[in-house]
Amino acid sequence: MSGRVVVLGGSGFLGSHLCDQLLARGDEVVCVDDLSTGRIANVAHLDERPDFTFIEADVSMGIPVDGPVTAVCNLASPASPPDYLALPLETLAVGSEGTRHGLELAARHGARFLMASTSEVYGDPEVHPQAESYWGRVNPIGPRSVYDEAKRFAEAITMAHHRTLGTDVAIVRIFNTYGPRLRPDDGRVVSNFLLQAMRGEPLTVYGDGSQTRSLCYVEDEVRGLIALLDSDLVGPVNIGNPDEYTVLQLAQTVIAQLNSASVIEHRPLPTDDPTRRRPDITVARGELGWEPTTSLEDGLARTAAYLATDAGLTLGS
Ligand code: UDP
Repeated sequence: MSGRVVVLGGSGFLGSHLCDQLLARGDEVVCVDDLSTGRIANVAHLDERPDFTFIEADVSMGIPVDGPVTAVCNLASPASPPDYLALPLETLAVGSEGTRHGLELAARHGARFLMASTSEVYGDPEVHPQAESYWGRVNPIGPRSVYDEAKRFAEAITMAHHRTLGTDVAIVRIFNTYGPRLRPDDGRVVSNFLLQAMRGEPLTVYGDGSQTRSLCYVEDEVRGLIALLDSDLVGPVNIGNPDEYTVLQLAQTVIAQLNSASVIEHRPLPTDDPTRRRPDITVARGELGWEPTTSLEDGLARTAAYLATDAGLTLGS
């Protein structure tokens, strides 16, 4: 059954892919974004469609959406560490007030609310891999806390709405995701390494590179978000790829795959950088029948092709 879905943060990296997949399966989409870290170019190809509307607004101030609403997906937030470290108060505002506005919009319409939470709620985890039952280890006063605690608050207000008002909600915990539409200046590991390798510049490995991440290709990730949206699960549900790599392995993989002449250079490790991260996706597999299918090699190739075009580079140059 198709509906009218409001995507908060719909011009961002993940949000724009969500708009695409929702439209492809027949939903109408209202994309709301203040373009602070999202890019209008991510949804420019949807501009002429009658089933797509773009509204420029900061959802922490309110959500100016009229007409019917069947679901609200809340992906509005800076998500890259350099972005949220540069926008600390905005990140806290959008995670708290933005989420409250999204919940109120959903509740008014009897719509389902999907909260895009994060593996960052697990902080620097003592439990590995991370299952949804783990409460996490977050430094509440460290620089990253603006993102981690905003998302933890967002989970709390989502559950409080559900418990006290019966709002239909779902929480997804998104692990590291990569793919086309990562901004070249986003600062995340995959976009940095691919661009550095293509430019023949040193790959900047923070710390000794022994920290791990588990990287999910964006189309797999968004397919998981929609599976959760279509279910009646509350969650939280981890959606991420359980294939785990050290950051050093990732750098070596990128250099080898792009046949790059780049070397590896070490830089200081950012404060509170989690030492390891890998999702336990038993719930997603069992309850949603979801698992990622895109290999790292394919995902990196598609992301490299996008970044090369976006940054005006030639692959292999
Ligand atoms: N990282 C790195 N070099 C870079 C960018 C990131 O070594 O140029 C590391 C970073 O310290 C972290 C991992 O890669 O351990 C993932 O960083 P990212 O910013 O992509 O996401 P995070 O998981 O920290 O939110």
